Amino acid sequence: MNSLSETAAPELTVIVPMYNEAENLSPLVARLAPVLERCVASYEIVFVDDGSSDETLLALRQANLSDPRLRAISFSRNFGKEIAIAAGLDHARGEAVVIMDADLQHPPEMIETFVERWREGYQNVYGQRVDRTADSALRRLLTLRFYKLFASFGETALPPGAGDFRLLDAQAVEALRAMPERARFSKGLYAWIGFRSIGVPFEVAERAFGESKFSYRKLTRFALDGLMSFSTLPLMVWTYVGTLISIGALAMAVYFIMQTITVGADVPGYASLIVSIMFFSGVQLMSLGILGEYVGRIFAEVKRRPLYLVAERVGVEADSSPIGRTRKSSP
Ligand code: UDP
Ligand code: MG
Repeated sequence: MNSLSETAAPELTVIVPMYNEAENLSPLVARLAPVLERCVASYEIVFVDDGSSDETLLALRQANLSDPRLRAISFSRNFGKEIAIAAGLDHARGEAVVIMDADLQHPPEMIETFVERWREGYQNVYGQRVDRTADSALRRLLTLRFYKLFASFGETALPPGAGDFRLLDAQAVEALRAMPERARFSKGLYAWIGFRSIGVPFEVAERAFGESKFSYRKLTRFALDGLMSFSTLPLMVWTYVGTLISIGALAMAVYFIMQTITVGADVPGYASLIVSIMFFSGVQLMSLGILGEYVGRIFAEVKRRPLYLVAERVGVEADSSPIGRTRKSSP
C-alpha cells in the first residue's frame, strides 16, 4: 500500500451507506470509478457498512486490497442510513463530499454535473428527483402526504424532490458534523444549514440488486423523527385546542344554568354525556402521546450515547473518528 495515498487528502470523498449490498458493490465501483477519474484530481470512496448480515464487509475488505482509495468502516450493528451518513461525514477527508446510495438508483454520471456546480461556487448541490416511479404507488402517496404535512408545520422549507444524493462542500460538511443529534433527519439538516444551494434534476433508476431496506414501519418512524425534530407545533397546538374546548365548556355551563333557572332540570342527556367523555379522553390521550414522543426523543438525546459504534475499519485511520480505539482491519 502506498503510504502517500493513505495520508494525502483527496479532492472528493464519496460516501456510500451499505446495508446488505454485497452484490451491488462491484457494479457500483465499476460505474463510479471512471466518472471520478474523469472529473476530479483525486478521490476516495468511504463505504459505511451499516451492520450488514451478508458478505458486504468481506467484499469491502477485498475492494480495499485491490484499491486503497476504497475505504470502509463497519458498524457493530445496524444503526440506520441516517447515522451511516453521519459516520461517513466524520471520516471524509475530501474538499467536497458526495453522498449516494449503493443500489445504483443514484446515477454516478450525475456527479460530473455536481462537481461542475461546485466549481462554480455552490456548496450544497442536491440531486432533485424528477419522478418517483421507482417507488410503489402506496409509498408515493404516503411520501406526498408527508411532504405536505412537513411543509405546513415544519419550520424548515425542504426543496421538492431533494434527498440524500448530493454534493457538499467542506464547509457544509463541517456544519453537519457539528450537529450531534440522534434523531437524524438529514433532508431537514441539509436544508437547515443553508449555504449556496442549487438543485440538479435527475431520474431515479430501478434498484440494481436486492430490495429496498426500508419497511413501512421504518419509514413511519423516520417521518415522525423528521416532523418532530423540525417542528414543535404538535406540542403547541394543544394549548389552542384546550383553550377552545374550555371556552366551549364554559358556554355550555352558562347555557345549562340558564336552562335550569328558566325551565328546570332536564334528566335525559346520557348519550351526549358518554360521547363527550369519550371524545375528550381521546383528545387527552392523544396529546399525552405526542408529549411522550417528544419526551422519548429528549431522553434519547440526553443519554448522550455515541451516535454509532465502529467494529472494524478498512483502510481508515482510527484517529479520524470521534470514537477511537477500535480494531484495525486485518483481512
Ligand atoms: N441503508 C443503510 N442502512 C439501513 C437501510 C438502508 O445504510 O438501515 C442504505 C442502503 O444500503 C442503500 C441506501 O441506504 O445504500 C438506500 O436504501 P434503499 O435503497 O433500501 O432505500 P430506498 O431506495 O428504497 O429509499
Ligand atoms: Mg434504493
